[in-house]
Amino acid sequence: MTQFFVIALTILGMQYAQASNLPDLGSPDLVTYDSQTEQALGRAFSRELNTQYPMIRDPESLHYIREIGHKITRETGNNRTFKFYIIDDAEINAFAGPNGIIGIHSGLIMSADSEDELASVIAHEVAHVTQNHLSRTYNAQSNVNITSIATLIAAILVGTQDPSAGIATYMGGMGLNIQEQLKNSRAHEHEADYFGIDYLAKAGYDPMAMSDFFGKLSKASQLYEFKVPELLLTHPVTETRLAQAQDRASQLPKTIKKSNSLNFELLKLRIHALSNQTKLSPDALSHLNTYEQCYLKNTVALSKNIETDLDDSCLNAMSTEYKTEKLPLLILAQVNSAQKKAKALTQFQYLTDLFPNDPSILLRKAQALANLENRQKAQQLIEDSVALFNDKTLLYNELAELYAQDEKPQNLAYSYYYGALANIEIGNFKNAKHLLEKAKTINKDYNSDLRGKIETLLNEPFQDDEKTKEK
Ligand SMILES: [Zn+2]
Repeated sequence: MTQFFVIALTILGMQYAQASNLPDLGSPDLVTYDSQTEQALGRAFSRELNTQYPMIRDPESLHYIREIGHKITRETGNNRTFKFYIIDDAEINAFAGPNGIIGIHSGLIMSADSEDELASVIAHEVAHVTQNHLSRTYNAQSNVNITSIATLIAAILVGTQDPSAGIATYMGGMGLNIQEQLKNSRAHEHEADYFGIDYLAKAGYDPMAMSDFFGKLSKASQLYEFKVPELLLTHPVTETRLAQAQDRASQLPKTIKKSNSLNFELLKLRIHALSNQTKLSPDALSHLNTYEQCYLKNTVALSKNIETDLDDSCLNAMSTEYKTEKLPLLILAQVNSAQKKAKALTQFQYLTDLFPNDPSILLRKAQALANLENRQKAQQLIEDSVALFNDKTLLYNELAELYAQDEKPQNLAYSYYYGALANIEIGNFKNAKHLLEKAKTINKDYNSDLRGKIETLLNEPFQDDEKTKEK
């Protein structure tokens, strides 16, 4: 049932089977070998995304989409580590990159009318990954390394550059070949819909949301003749496709639980406040209710550090009405912390009790501790629990920042060390190495715990994918 498709990629020195002589993907050797290459490509792709494209690195927004992603991926039976990112791009688009890296454009979040619709696109992209559509069979020839391939794949998938003009030309016919292969084939789309709808229902979302969302986008682009969303260019909506998706969804049990619309609306307000590319329409803005206006005003004030615009009175009313909703409670605690009110810490404790494994609450709580008590407590809080989380980049960055503000100059070594860990998380090993070297020049105590950790990291064969290819 699964159709593996082959990207005719090229890596110097790699003795891969020719496309005409496709190996059996069930063979254990090849699976290991393939997964190694896939991971290297995933690291290079992650590095490319995180360093070359505008991203929304808001802890609350990221946690929101990662939670949806987690609900879906745990229904797939696939044990790979998926990574979810938000690209700050107004285009209505999403993509599945190598090694389970999934990108959601901020424009897509804005165009969805419910969490179920957003989840339906995430489920579709997850299915492209579980069905190995971006498969990894390379045939050996010339001089193209993994970084160049990752650069090209990112340019095509993120869609912000015209790859045919740039690097694809540089890579010759092969670049165009990749571009061709990445345009999802009808068979793959059908399969991603099929499995995606299944995951969606199992995760407790409305399985009809996928056909609803694609159908709505398609209708809107015909009606208003606006530019066809990228998502529809790569995912053409045909009557057959919609009918098949509806048919599939109708065979699945109906969802009992309606997903929370308050938090989804607040997520969109966060994107509106924090994105440089994606804004709510003037019409949508004019229809915000009092609570939404209150949330938006405070989100903007916090992000721009405008203390005079903070308004806890409207937030108090909101959190009294929504006693167990994360986003209203969290922003109230943040505003109280910014206003130096000690009750913020009690509010953070309440939040932690309600949502014990939420890294965005942990991070905001640490910021409040640094603001209201002391930096050491904030550092300790993150250091004690960072290991529990899948995505550690923001937490390591926060630690780097907290240590950078430290009075003791020798603690700057910790700042570099955590900065290095944040870079390792996104596959940026060159930067990580540079920061570790800097940490070493400050920490000359060979017996210290930190020095040991720095040396251990530096002695690990740094995942320099380009270098290994030159062997
Ligand atoms: Zn697709």
